[in-house]
Amino acid sequence: MQCFKNEFHRERSASLKLRRNFLTCLSSWKAPPRIPRSSQSEALLNIANNGLPYAPLQTFTEEEMMLKRTVERFAQEQIAPLVLTMDENSKVEKSVIQGLFQHGIGSFCLSEAGAGSDSFSLKTRADKKGDYFVINGSKMWISHAEYAGLFLVMANVDPTRGYKGITCFLVDRGTEGLHIGKPENKLGLRASCTCPLTFDNVKVPEANVLGQIGHGYKYAIGMLNKGRVGIAAQMLGLAQGCFDYTIPYIKERVQFGTRLFDFQGLQHQVAHVATQLEAARLLTYNAARLAEAGRPFIKEASMAKYYASEIAGRTTSKCIDWMGGAGYVKAYPVEKYFRDAKIGTIYEGTSNIQLNTIAKHIDAEY
Ligand SMILES: Cc1cc2nc3c(=O)[nH]c(=O)nc-3n(C[C@H](O)[C@H](O)[C@H](O)COP(=O)(O)OP(=O)(O)OC[C@H]3O[C@@H](n4cnc5c(N)ncnc54)[C@H](O)[C@@H]3O)c2cc1C
Repeated sequence: MQCFKNEFHRERSASLKLRRNFLTCLSSWKAPPRIPRSSQSEALLNIANNGLPYAPLQTFTEEEMMLKRTVERFAQEQIAPLVLTMDENSKVEKSVIQGLFQHGIGSFCLSEAGAGSDSFSLKTRADKKGDYFVINGSKMWISHAEYAGLFLVMANVDPTRGYKGITCFLVDRGTEGLHIGKPENKLGLRASCTCPLTFDNVKVPEANVLGQIGHGYKYAIGMLNKGRVGIAAQMLGLAQGCFDYTIPYIKERVQFGTRLFDFQGLQHQVAHVATQLEAARLLTYNAARLAEAGRPFIKEASMAKYYASEIAGRTTSKCIDWMGGAGYVKAYPVEKYFRDAKIGTIYEGTSNIQLNTIAKHIDAEY
């Protein structure tokens, strides 16, 4: 076994050495992502334009620019150097948890084995006994459950009322009868744990009901609607990061005596993906701006989430194609971007569910 490990490490270091001599832009994927020159100048211009009556959608306020830079710096300095290890170990490093969640982690517990897209058909029950409730049932796919200190649990207090019986309970991690199962072994988002939960006569004081009894479905919809803008942004950032990593490679790699980027067949593909990325960005910023302004945004959030997720899948797949074999191996980030992108079309409502929402709005509008 030891001999196999030594051989593996020898081969790996030889192949890494080979790659180092291959192309300068094929640096390890721990390298900070490149910021295209266009984005840098755009940032300065956007600050200057703040306040124009018809400012472009990508115009940021000074506060937004500051936030953007802070997140960028945290991602580059604190997270990027650990990404490979976290992906391989399927674990988030403590320093990242501390940096991201200073006030503790909460998990949102809606989905069940029999209630995914049809989440309001959930079967978890909460029965009133004096001044507390007793929760019984199970949940599936709960993000961050391994580290969460608090669980927002949707349970039905009166199934005869259908979804109007759904109530949101705050359940502390240490509560007796709450069992957190083994994390799922996933395609992507490997460092983020996703666990099943079971509730076995979990006693929760009445004071731990969040908001009003029977309003859980409203809170869940509200969180999901806003969350969809977040998923759109997540997918957009992922796709942009993958694109930013790949373009310098195809500008440097030479085949048939020509840079890959100079083949028109490739240029058209790049231009097509860049246009789709820009469209996803505008949809996402538009939905975020509407939500922030307190205007109707549900259709726009679904459009942004749907489109950005689909485009993230397409962009990351194309980036692998453009980088060839180098895109397919784990030594570089592109294959991980591809694996991580897939979740966008599934969680917080699948792509079909977003299309259903968009269609429902169109039906009402005409
Ligand atoms: C990594 C990960 C993290 C997650 N985190 C959380 C979490 O923190 N909390 C939480 O509560 N849940 C979480 N989920 C659950 C997630 O929201 C569900 O997986 C998702 O809503 C889809 O449900 P499902 O898996 O049961 O698929 P299903 O509902 O069985 O859907 C399967 C397919 O059928 C299609 N379909 C279903 N109904 C319709 C319809 N009416 N019209 C057209 N097509 C339809 C879907 O689009 C999909 O293609 C997570 C899931 C994953 C994978």
